[in-house]
Amino acid sequence: MVVSQRIPEETIQDVLHRVDIVDVIGDYVTLTQRGANAKGLCPFHKEKTPSFTVSSAKGLFYCFGCQASGNVVRFLMMHESLSFPEAVRALADRYGVRIPEPNSNTPQRDSEMQKLFQLHRAAAEFFSQRLGQDSAVREYCRQRHFSREMVERFGLGYAPDAWEALGHAMQGQGFTQELLLQSGLVVARDNQRGAYDRFRHRLMFPIADRQGRPVAFGGRLLDAAAAAQAPKYLNSPETPIFQKNRILYGFHLAKQAIRQHGQTIIVEGYTDVIACHRQGVTNVVGTLGTALTEAHVDMLKVMAKDVALVFDADAAGGKATERGIGLFLDAGVRVHIVELPEGDDPDSFLQQHTGDEFQRRVAEAQTFLTYLVARARRFSDLRSPTGQADCVAHILPLLRKIDNEVEQWGYVAQLAEHLGLPPDVLQRQLRPASERSHAPMRRPARPRVAPRPPSTPGPREEYLLIQELCHDLSRLEPVTRQIAEETFQDANMGAIFAVFKRCAPQWQGSVFPQILQEIENPVQERLLTEMAMAEPNPNAEERERALNDCVLKMKKRQLSTQKQRLIEQMRSASGDHADELLHQFQRLQHEKEIGLSADLNSV
Ligand SMILES: [Zn+2]
Repeated sequence: MVVSQRIPEETIQDVLHRVDIVDVIGDYVTLTQRGANAKGLCPFHKEKTPSFTVSSAKGLFYCFGCQASGNVVRFLMMHESLSFPEAVRALADRYGVRIPEPNSNTPQRDSEMQKLFQLHRAAAEFFSQRLGQDSAVREYCRQRHFSREMVERFGLGYAPDAWEALGHAMQGQGFTQELLLQSGLVVARDNQRGAYDRFRHRLMFPIADRQGRPVAFGGRLLDAAAAAQAPKYLNSPETPIFQKNRILYGFHLAKQAIRQHGQTIIVEGYTDVIACHRQGVTNVVGTLGTALTEAHVDMLKVMAKDVALVFDADAAGGKATERGIGLFLDAGVRVHIVELPEGDDPDSFLQQHTGDEFQRRVAEAQTFLTYLVARARRFSDLRSPTGQADCVAHILPLLRKIDNEVEQWGYVAQLAEHLGLPPDVLQRQLRPASERSHAPMRRPARPRVAPRPPSTPGPREEYLLIQELCHDLSRLEPVTRQIAEETFQDANMGAIFAVFKRCAPQWQGSVFPQILQEIENPVQERLLTEMAMAEPNPNAEERERALNDCVLKMKKRQLSTQKQRLIEQMRSASGDHADELLHQFQRLQHEKEIGLSADLNSV
């Protein structure tokens, strides 16, 4: 059944309550704890100094550079292009919060993407249930040593040897023909009448996104005789939920291990990844036969600063490997190249060797530099001056990408040694031609981003007052005795204050991050997040004084505005009305003298 996406408010609050925002964002951004907040490089704009801030206590993120902000749901929506319910569901899955099934007469408002996710989940289930039904697929799994555990971990399945088995079954579950065609699971017949299953008599590998949801399939041919007419491996086409260059096979299963090892092992195919897992090597992802892309590198660089590429020894992979090396160096990730014995891939290697032996190969992997020199040696004579010059011209651009100068010069020295050249010749070459006339070699200093002033044109005291409330909610009660929403000159600040007053009593102690749900206006939302993320002054007395100051200034301003208004009214008033206004004026005057001095002690 196609389920609707409406999620009850209590469930959303429950999810927000359980989620640790630092844990979730930590999957995408390398975060370092600094004081009360964690900091890292912003994933939403390019920067070299971290201004992306995450508060575990408040459940918020905020970038002081580009002002991206929000709670954990917003982060997933922005980063993963999920809808609100999709983001909440992803978090609920991760933290084991059950989302109640809606009753069947709720109108269905699922987004197209949501429907595609549901279809792929149902199809994976369909294939998985049929795995035991065919002798060819059982035999293949036996040969490949796919244990029951691996079959379950990777959700392997079988696409029956029939033209419309999946299509019929999915339509029976309420999925439309149109959606099936869009997913590529079925293919339209040439005569425009009906459609047939794309995958037939194949072993099915579900391809999951980073949350572990199946978004596509790869199918391996089981009938050797058919190999002449059909490709051995067939993949789903790209869809709104499946972009090949953003998916790494097995990523969701490898995340934890990659973090623990500080290293990602990258292999090529499905069976390579599964073979590694079977032998206990789990920090492994597969590229699905495509070249590494920047999106892949972005996914991996936050998890670990070291990658080991395990590719087939054949030269065909060389160019793509080189490009991959460049991308990783650009991202500040160290690269090693694992070479397996001639003719072996990880799968075949691991059929004959243990996981430990594989790990040892990875640990002893050559640096990318040794690999590149060895490759250059295959194409030219590195003892000849022209061969050396070609090799240098080829490799130096890659070394320029390395940010750490010590490391960079270390590689330069190694390259010099490989080529039998004096290192200083290469060091001079390292600088781009445009800089080379000036000694000594230095990178231009990077401009530091100055802390931004509060991003509101309104009075500063209003900003500071709300900021203090963000840090210490116990100040709200005394403050509300002194000022009201109308006291604020800046309408945004007044509105935020009103939300505080309304919501604080029901949330006892912490209004973050729930309060963001209450604010509709995006400007107010951004302002509030910015205020909440600033580090509070640790000196409580100074903060107290500052708060009193803010209240005083705001009240003064309010009184003088009121006075001004009265004076103007008195000018044109007459008789009783003038008396009344004069009376009001005197009361104001009095309030200003008595009231303001009293404030200082009572806030
Ligand atoms: Zn940013």
